[in-house]
Amino acid sequence: MKTEIQTLVRLQAAEIEIRHLEKALEEAPKRFDALNAERQMLSEAVQVAEAHLADLNKRYREREREARQEQDRAAKRAARLYEVKTNKEYQATLKEIDDIKATVSGIEDEMLALLDTIEAAKGDLAQKRQASADRSQALADEAAEVEQAMADDRQRLEALRLQREEIASQIDPDLMNVYLKARIQQRDQRAVAEVIHAVCQGCHLNIPPQLYNELQRQDDLKICPLCQRIIYWQNEE
Ligand SMILES: [Zn+2]
Repeated sequence: MKTEIQTLVRLQAAEIEIRHLEKALEEAPKRFDALNAERQMLSEAVQVAEAHLADLNKRYREREREARQEQDRAAKRAARLYEVKTNKEYQATLKEIDDIKATVSGIEDEMLALLDTIEAAKGDLAQKRQASADRSQALADEAAEVEQAMADDRQRLEALRLQREEIASQIDPDLMNVYLKARIQQRDQRAVAEVIHAVCQGCHLNIPPQLYNELQRQDDLKICPLCQRIIYWQNEE
């Protein structure tokens, strides 16, 4: 019985690794998605900062144009001062010129404030471009690593599946049936459990002394009374 159990243990080990690799290969595309999402996020942050800066520059040019127009208007009014006939008209034109100057001054204040905002936006854009450039190499490296790991996993999986078939072919069909039935009942799909110091490693039950004695003789197949796994014992000496 000892050899058969050892074969089952090897079969189980191969199956556990197969499931582990299958899961890893299933998860890997999610890692790709996460990497792409991060790349996308960084590039969008740059685009938003670029658009913000472009908008500020546009606003600045608009204010500049407005200020020029107002200054032209003031110059025309000033030229008219020489043509006015009455004092009242003269005062009114002076008042108009003052109002225009006040408007221009307001626009110029706005332009100065915009220049500060533009400087800050330039700094922010440079920072975001740098962050994107810094991270993009790391992201590309990571994607290449994931790809390599997937290729390795696929290769290992293929070898393990062959190995599993090879081990399975050595197992007596009746024993194989017991194994498969036990496996189906276990949530972790582990059908075989070692008993160490009279404790089932599948469910931590203390194996009754009589059963433990029989188990140590390794004459026939033993099942854990609690978890129903095939149990085995290894002489530690
Ligand atoms: Zn058990």
